[in-house]
Amino acid sequence: MFTFVGSLNEIQMSIQNERKRREALVYHAKPKPGKIEVVPTKKYATQRDLALAYSPGVAAPCLEIEKDKNNSYKYTSKGNLVAVISNGTAVLGLGDIGPEASKPVMEGKGLLFKIFADIDVFDIEVDTKNVDEFIQTVKHIAPTFGGINLEDIKAPEAFEIERRLKEELDIPVMHDDQHGTAIISAAALLNAVELAEKKIEDVKIVVSGAGAAAVSCTRLYKAFGAQADNIVMLDSKGVIRKDRENLSAEKDEFATSRKIDTLEEAMQDADVFVGLSIADIVTPDMLLSMAKNPIVFAMANPNPEIDYDLAVSTRKDLIMATGRSDHPNQVNNVLGFPFIFRGALDVRATKINEAMKMAAVRALAELAKENVPEQVNIAYGETKLGFGREYIIPKPFDSRLLTKIPPAVAKAAMESGVAKEPIEDWQRYEDELYE
Ligand code: NAP
Ligand code: MG
Repeated sequence: MFTFVGSLNEIQMSIQNERKRREALVYHAKPKPGKIEVVPTKKYATQRDLALAYSPGVAAPCLEIEKDKNNSYKYTSKGNLVAVISNGTAVLGLGDIGPEASKPVMEGKGLLFKIFADIDVFDIEVDTKNVDEFIQTVKHIAPTFGGINLEDIKAPEAFEIERRLKEELDIPVMHDDQHGTAIISAAALLNAVELAEKKIEDVKIVVSGAGAAAVSCTRLYKAFGAQADNIVMLDSKGVIRKDRENLSAEKDEFATSRKIDTLEEAMQDADVFVGLSIADIVTPDMLLSMAKNPIVFAMANPNPEIDYDLAVSTRKDLIMATGRSDHPNQVNNVLGFPFIFRGALDVRATKINEAMKMAAVRALAELAKENVPEQVNIAYGETKLGFGREYIIPKPFDSRLLTKIPPAVAKAAMESGVAKEPIEDWQRYEDELYE
């Protein structure tokens, strides 16, 4: 006998999901397993070519590099090679699924680095949850790379891992889950605040979530002028108050002296809601209690803190962003990491510092205000994308990202004194980026 377990709609959804799942599996399995491969960049057709590529010819660059390690940028792929490194402890929204299971994500990141900024990636999955062991592993393999992109590592370990590696290595290190989201959402926030005719110094901000993403986003918003007194942060236990016991250092940094406990109370008259927590915790009533022209960045993935359609039907004056590609204003890290590393590698920066991140934010925010080229409209099936409530940040398939962000990041690296190979001819550099 059959039992009817769901509505027709639910059954259709589950068939559709199963189809997408299979499609994703076939995509990864065929024609070759995985998403990236290594391709030689020099000739290898003749015996002479091979004698240059390997023994005996290869000894010449080895000896040049032995004399001066900087020559590795001249004679090897180091300068354009980034390690995407994870231990698989916080993979997407899937949690601690282990290093092997994180590999498709790391390969995917490699694909994005390559197609958006022509940066080569080795994805490296490390089998340890121990902070010291992880740091040692990265340090030991660092000579291979021009930069290190830490990925999908659980908080709070990720904070210490990134901090120590930045101190101890002389190549750029960035934990993208923290800073990528911070950079893109800060650009979106600057533009949203402008559209709402408010000032970043004045807006009352509610941050739902106190994890890796929320902490680094809020730090960056403060660097752009958001006032600590105007910020209320919440975690799974509610509002993070100064009088709460056993707060981690990161949570203590954002604890409020206001005597409130719930999201509902925090949302009253708030100008901005930043969600980096879990789905469906913001209600229409909470949205209605916010100030005029409310800004709602509901970035929990895959489902936001409030459903997009529900939110926009609740308030017409809303400016909304999510982490999803099926709605306007997607806060997508791919707008950041390929171009930030491009700029950092191109001046051989020893760090990705605050000045470089802030330069990327400003460049992204400014780009959203420029006229949108026809190819971008076509790529997104739009007729006239233009700066406004539904377009506060650029789209990933906008080729101008590559010519706007890396130069801004490279300039900031030079001005902040971390560029070992400063660019002199900017016109030539920008022309090279086009090629
Ligand atoms: P995380 O480090 O695990 O942090 C999750 C945070 O959410 C924790 O602080 C947790 O509180 C808090 N939380 C859980 N339930 C809550 C509730 N009911 N109300 C308020 N806070 C609650 O994760 P993460 O890497 O920061 O990511 C958080 C979310 O943001 C995920 O959904 C992720 O997909 C999303 N995200 C989106 C983007 C994007 O759109 N580009 C980028 C990064 C992250 P406790 O501290 O008490 O556990
Ligand atoms: Mg990630």
